[in-house]
Amino acid sequence: MRLSRYLLPVMKESPADAQIVSHKLMLRAGLVRQTAAGIYAWLPLGLKVLRNIERIVREEQDRAGAVELLMPTMQSADLWRQSGRYDAYGPEMLRITDRHDREMLFGPTNEEMVTALFRDAARSYRDLPRTLYHIQWKFRDEVRPRFGVMRGREFLMKDAYSFDMDEAGARHSYNRMFVAYLRTFARMGLRAIPMQADTGPIGGDLSHEFIVLAPTGESDVFYHSNWDAAAEPADVDFDDAGALQAIVDGYTTDYAATDEKRDEAREAAAGDALRQSRGVEVGHIFYFGTKYSASMGLAVQGADGAPVNPHMGSYGIGVSRLVGAIIEASHDDRGIVWPDAVAPYAVGLINMRADDAACAAAADDLYARLQAAGVEVLYDDRDERGGAKFATMDLVGVPWQIVIGPKGLANGVVEVKRRATGEKVELSVEDALARVSG
Ligand code: ATP
Ligand code: MG
Repeated sequence: MRLSRYLLPVMKESPADAQIVSHKLMLRAGLVRQTAAGIYAWLPLGLKVLRNIERIVREEQDRAGAVELLMPTMQSADLWRQSGRYDAYGPEMLRITDRHDREMLFGPTNEEMVTALFRDAARSYRDLPRTLYHIQWKFRDEVRPRFGVMRGREFLMKDAYSFDMDEAGARHSYNRMFVAYLRTFARMGLRAIPMQADTGPIGGDLSHEFIVLAPTGESDVFYHSNWDAAAEPADVDFDDAGALQAIVDGYTTDYAATDEKRDEAREAAAGDALRQSRGVEVGHIFYFGTKYSASMGLAVQGADGAPVNPHMGSYGIGVSRLVGAIIEASHDDRGIVWPDAVAPYAVGLINMRADDAACAAAADDLYARLQAAGVEVLYDDRDERGGAKFATMDLVGVPWQIVIGPKGLANGVVEVKRRATGEKVELSVEDALARVSG
């Protein structure tokens, strides 16, 4: 992408209304703009990151055996009356009346809708187990939307829902998601700790929140220092219930709990190894048994012919919140430092002298060659000062920078910089190509 044709409204100064670093940087680097309280437009660069996160989430859901569908944002109030949650949900639900005076709502979550869909589609135990998911916008009329996309009112969520014949099956489905989440966050360069959590208004008895440690996080968390060195899970066969359970047992051995679920005995046992921090909740998984299947009349025929209410769980990931969480975890005083896996572009190509015909020709040529090699490039071809171009590239956090200038060109080299470390090397064009596409 040529910057001369892009929409990248970067800002030098931090906007006054942004309190935390990720919010400041998302505005300064031109990723998002607020269009109404807690509602954001995703500008081109921000959208690239959002799509990359979505792709990782989708790949790991698919790998774990979940099946994607897409449910609408608009739902009918009648659906929510079936579970009894229409009145219980409270003012966070955005309620809308259509032209025929029908009561509608902008979905804050989809337990009711997916339960109704599955009720119409599943007949017998042969249709189970199933885990269905979608990646769709949600609306929650949060009292205090803040910190940018971290706590928006409209936000993008991956939500999955599992249906099993019994509790043992439901536990297997839960463990699939538990391990899928560890893999998902690790691929984004994040350490997310699964913590014992309250089940909240959804109810149930088995629940973990996945928390990324960050001083600006909204949750108070307590954990054993062993978590500081935790590794990501090895490859696993998701159909092997025993192997999955062993992994989950391994990851739940060391203490980690949110404020609501603190355990005095386990904290005493941890002694000096107990750590307290703040964290950002990027995912939440629940098992809630037959709460929705029973209240909404979802029953399938069991192997013995008798009707069974499936055991269910639901599993959320805050896709748009993750953009902020990744920046909280990965930035420096010059801007964002994107992990390679989610970076909007792999390479930032800077032409130091747009007014120099040889530089422009060399930069155009390298741009074409990078694209031909399948490398995503943000090419600063604008007629600007070199210093401003460096500052912009550092701010937007592209992992590799290649700088083309007249001096280097005369010596047959370009400068390659790694954004994360600041390390710079002079390489031939061939070697530069190999370095950034490796
Ligand atoms: P929180 O405790 O932060 O309000 P929640 O418990 O209400 O979250 P869930 O219902 O578990 O959230 O939703 C699943 C995921 O969606 C959360 O783990 C979080 O990452 C994300 N999420 C929830 N609310 C918001 C929001 N207002 N803005 C952005 N992401 C959100
Ligand atoms: Mg939660």
